[in-house]
Amino acid sequence: ATQFVIDGLTASIEDKEILKGINLEIKGGEVHAIMGPNGTGKSTLASALMGHPKYEVTGGSASLNGEDLLEMATDERARAGLFLAMQYPSEITGVTNSDFLRSAINARRGEGNEISLIKFIRQMEGKMKELDMNPEFAHRYLNEGFSGGEKKRNEILQMLLLDPKIVVLDEIDSGLDIDALKIVAAGVNSMRSEDRGFLIITHYQRLLNYIKPDFVHVMMQGRIVKSGGPELAERLENEGYDWVKEELGIVD
Ligand code: ADP
Ligand code: MG
Ligand code: MG
Repeated sequence: ATQFVIDGLTASIEDKEILKGINLEIKGGEVHAIMGPNGTGKSTLASALMGHPKYEVTGGSASLNGEDLLEMATDERARAGLFLAMQYPSEITGVTNSDFLRSAINARRGEGNEISLIKFIRQMEGKMKELDMNPEFAHRYLNEGFSGGEKKRNEILQMLLLDPKIVVLDEIDSGLDIDALKIVAAGVNSMRSEDRGFLIITHYQRLLNYIKPDFVHVMMQGRIVKSGGPELAERLENEGYDWVKEELGIVD
């Protein structure tokens, strides 16, 4: 069974400590949401987990099924089953979406187990249809000139094709209109299974109406300061974050 454990994770950007000790455990079948005000380190957590070079992990650990992720290069983390949809996906000129997807799938599957071209195309076209994406997007350069919403759908397309064990979605709802949000949520929900865990990072509660979390965590100033069930997200939507700060005596 999938088990993802983050223990005492601290991380810095340009010598400024952003993550101040994150503890989180996600099992297969579970959906966890992290909510929090802007600038509290949510994206830093996602990037540190993926091994982005700008973020220096200064302490703690992160493991997937007992394997130390922090020791691995970014592509090895992906191969181990970690998937991250970034808040701001990069554009890559000269690499088509379809080429990118195929090499990502093959990297995940490993040498000697590459997907056949026919099977790949069939899968990609099927998933693009599910996401209501124009087939043209297969042949466009990765994210280049994509709208915000198209980039988000494209991240979900990658997730659907890569069959990850742990999925981290950073603000997958930002820039989506309600129809696109429903399509993206349906894509995520179709992937929920007993051996896959999700970490959904969002500023707004709205997404959680469509992807029901089992656990909700509040992040502030680089720490998870409160955890609960879906009712916590509703209270944050209605009352904002001030009551959490008061309860915990946080001044900013
Ligand atoms: P959130 O995702 O919760 O809005 P971030 O993780 O993006 O927060 O940012 C946390 C803090 O780190 C903020 O103070 C932000 O200004 C800073 N920060 C994030 N990324 C960078 C970066 N690439 N360079 C310098 N500072 C950064
Ligand atoms: Mg932000
Ligand atoms: Mg962010």
